Amino acid sequence: DRAREAYRPVFMITDFQSDKEDWDYSLQTRLEHALSHDRIDIALQPQFDLASGDIVGAEALARWFDEEQGQIPPERFIGQCERVGRLDELTERVLSKTLDSIEAMSANEWAPDVSLNISAIQFADEGIADLIERQIVGRAIDPKGVTIELTETARIENFVLARRTIERIKQLGMKFSIDDFGIQTANLETIYELPFDEIKIDRLFIGNLRQSTKARAITSSLIGLARDSGMVCVAEGIEDNATLELLKELGCERAQGYFLSRPIPPKDLINLLKSRTDGLDGRRYHG
Ligand code: C2E
Ligand code: MG
Ligand code: MG
Ligand code: MG
Repeated sequence: DRAREAYRPVFMITDFQSDKEDWDYSLQTRLEHALSHDRIDIALQPQFDLASGDIVGAEALARWFDEEQGQIPPERFIGQCERVGRLDELTERVLSKTLDSIEAMSANEWAPDVSLNISAIQFADEGIADLIERQIVGRAIDPKGVTIELTETARIENFVLARRTIERIKQLGMKFSIDDFGIQTANLETIYELPFDEIKIDRLFIGNLRQSTKARAITSSLIGLARDSGMVCVAEGIEDNATLELLKELGCERAQGYFLSRPIPPKDLINLLKSRTDGLDGRRYHG
């Protein structure tokens, strides 16, 4: 048994997603190419303030269009980047594109806050803080408008080290959000230990709000938890109007989901924000 244990691949012990095991190895070469030739793009998904209907934020999501296989979902290539030690490089590409889009919007009064996803496993040392500092220096950007969504927070092994790195980035002015809150990858201990400004309620609960009393109870208590501990609450995965109305009743501050808007190219978001501001109704989702 000991011998068998020794040959077990490391990723079987640490990874959550089973699709990581059937990666097509010819894709690896194209992923390397995509990373080094600046082929990783972002889409921005608007976040709405539920009281006003305004677009107040946008989440940057990594996009990779491979010429042979088409659009590859981030859940596939992010795991692969991690396995081959290129997650920081991916983050650098995504961060650079995200900051470009913030710069493109920054002169306007309608400029939303922008968030991006970074895996918590990158917070085991301060390298990620150096990377972020390097990227933001010399740009016409207010770091207060940038939020880092920490994903896979259950994989944090050392809260002291993670907190040190987070605090360093917070000193620049950036905010921190805990992503997918309430499922295996994000738990209460993590909220207790780390200085988050925002929680994102996982779409497992939001998707079941209408039909499940339990999902409503959980969502309601997470909204209360956020409020009582001074965090902004964002609901993800709103797919219909009934869910949106329920979230308003429960007092949720912000929402994002296909019903409100899909993730869209940055230039489309800019056009959307411009057209909403030009209209009489401002940036409302009704109208
Ligand atoms: P996430 O951060 O929780 O992002 C939300 C995901 O839900 C996105 O999927 C988004 O397209 C999708 N979504 C939004 N609204 C709805 C809805 O109403 N219904 C449904 N069914 N889905 C909705 P996407 O873009 O495929 O990203 C998946 C995950 O990959 C992200 O989940 C995030 O964990 C990770 N990811 C994406 N970009 C990056 C990145 O640049 N770095 C890292 N580390 N992770 C990333
Ligand atoms: Mg996210
Ligand atoms: Mg999420
Ligand atoms: Mg998710």
